[in-house]
Amino acid sequence: MTATSPPTAPTARALPVAELPRIRRAALRLVRQDGRAFAAMTGLNALAAGAGLVGPWLLGRIIDEVRAGAPVASVDRLALVILVFAVTQLVLARYAGYVGHRFGERTLARIREQFADRALALPAAAVERAGTGDLMTRGTADVAAVGATLRDAGPQVLIAGVQAVFILGAVFALHPLLGVCAVVGLLGIWFAARWYLRRALTAYLAEGAANSALAEQLAATAAGARTVEALGLQQHRMTACQKQIEECRTTRNRTLFLRSVLFPAVDISYVIPVAGVLLIGGVLYSHGTMSLGAVVSSALYLMQLSQPLDTILQQMEQLQSSRASFARVEGLGLATHAPSVPAATPVDDRIEVADVHYAYDEGGDVLHGVDLTVRPGERLVIVGPSGAGKTTLGRLLAGTGTPHTGSVTVGQVPVARLDPDQLRRHVVLVTQEHHVFLGTVRDNLQIASAGATDAELHAALTAVGAEWTSELPDGLDTDLGHEGHRPDGAQAQQLALARVVLADPHTLILDEATALLDPRTARHAERALAAVLEGRTVIAIAHRLQTAYDADRVAVMEDGRLTELGTHEDLVAADGAYAALWRSWHGEPTRTGGRRRQH
Ligand code: ADP
Repeated sequence: MTATSPPTAPTARALPVAELPRIRRAALRLVRQDGRAFAAMTGLNALAAGAGLVGPWLLGRIIDEVRAGAPVASVDRLALVILVFAVTQLVLARYAGYVGHRFGERTLARIREQFADRALALPAAAVERAGTGDLMTRGTADVAAVGATLRDAGPQVLIAGVQAVFILGAVFALHPLLGVCAVVGLLGIWFAARWYLRRALTAYLAEGAANSALAEQLAATAAGARTVEALGLQQHRMTACQKQIEECRTTRNRTLFLRSVLFPAVDISYVIPVAGVLLIGGVLYSHGTMSLGAVVSSALYLMQLSQPLDTILQQMEQLQSSRASFARVEGLGLATHAPSVPAATPVDDRIEVADVHYAYDEGGDVLHGVDLTVRPGERLVIVGPSGAGKTTLGRLLAGTGTPHTGSVTVGQVPVARLDPDQLRRHVVLVTQEHHVFLGTVRDNLQIASAGATDAELHAALTAVGAEWTSELPDGLDTDLGHEGHRPDGAQAQQLALARVVLADPHTLILDEATALLDPRTARHAERALAAVLEGRTVIAIAHRLQTAYDADRVAVMEDGRLTELGTHEDLVAADGAYAALWRSWHGEPTRTGGRRRQH
């Protein structure tokens, strides 16, 4: 079934967001994974910052030498040394930037890979609850924000931090009193930054969530455009989108306010330590405890300090928003299946459903104690009125959900606990959705069985009647999608069925797999399907009774309960709910159990 959000979808429940300790652990793990590059980047930056300290100190020396009447040659020598250190600083800083960029790119690649792994491991129910917009925003805007930090903001802040510490250290070395004066003068920045940081994470998270919600609203409106038009819901959707846009505006205003308080406060705070050092330095100089050169050097250092501090403050916004983004990216790890229990191996092919109760997030139980034993090799059809819980039961049988109480097991192992590779070899759900992935025919098939040989791939394609693949220009290496061959609906279904053949599960859950196909291709598709069903246990969720007729057993579901179970003949003879359904489907007024096939 397609999982497009209905045009009037209830408010989606967002995927989780990671808390601070988890963010810290994740960041540390990333640094450790590329520890050498990180250490090299930090070391080179420290050397560059050290080289940067030489200039102001030597300028102070020049002043003192000139006052002491030193010859021009010694001043020239000092000026040359300043030049050499300035060039050294430049080279070291550039190299540190290069190492930092490479570190950032590698780390971003790791985050992307981890995101893809986690997104694929997400339980379908979690994605449905959150809406695809949330997942999409995390995978695009949030990962991009984290990437920008790793590439630019992160290394820049690291460089600036090292520089600031070195500069303050140099002022302390010149005179501890001036160092204290500088630190006290900088307290204004500290308070302004603390005020900002305390509020910023929440504000940026709210902004991110509002953006996601807007993306979700727009995606749902676009996806359900026909329904919106058909039901005349345009105004309703526009109101919903406008509300979301308003929410975006409010959250953006909040972050803008935070910035507009922070930056003026900081600008004023820069001047204070320089003025203080000149004042106290002047007093010290007049008492003869400090040379004029040292006072000038201190003032130059503090003026130099504004540059790294500016960088840190400017990037703080980026760091804050990317911390919020990282919290959302990392949060995905909280929603994936926790492999808390070691994976067990099913002992046989028997599927058992025992006292299963299940409820979706909103609303009460939709399954009320379902018991069912599926016999290996049988063809079981589940019928019942719409909303009875057939699809829900099918999803639990296929491992896409976990019952709240009771169990759904294959070979005594809960189906939902099998890892995807294992699950594919036991149970596969075949729906009306046949997605073709970008890539070659081979890529599309090897999803189901990574090590399958060409002969096995060809055999699977032949089994489902996909002869068209042998006429493709590059055979199995032909690209499918925009650039290459575009499979039509029937071909997409054949590829999906070939995947099932390759996965070779003993049990298939069919959600009325051919119901929506074009009648001209349906017959062909049914033949392909029949080849796939051969020799497997089949549990078919029938929305049409016609399917029930051929089944070994029929299970009737009503209102979340399994009310009847038996062969078609038995159930017709029993004259219960199934008999009534069968009669109404046939349009038969009499209460006879006659078998009559209708196509
Ligand atoms: P059937 O397949 O027999 O038509 P379903 O299993 O689709 O029945 O639905 C059983 C009940 O569960 C219905 O009341 C339906 O409204 C509800 N339901 C189905 N899917 C969801 C969902 N994703 N969220 C909330 N309720 C759902």
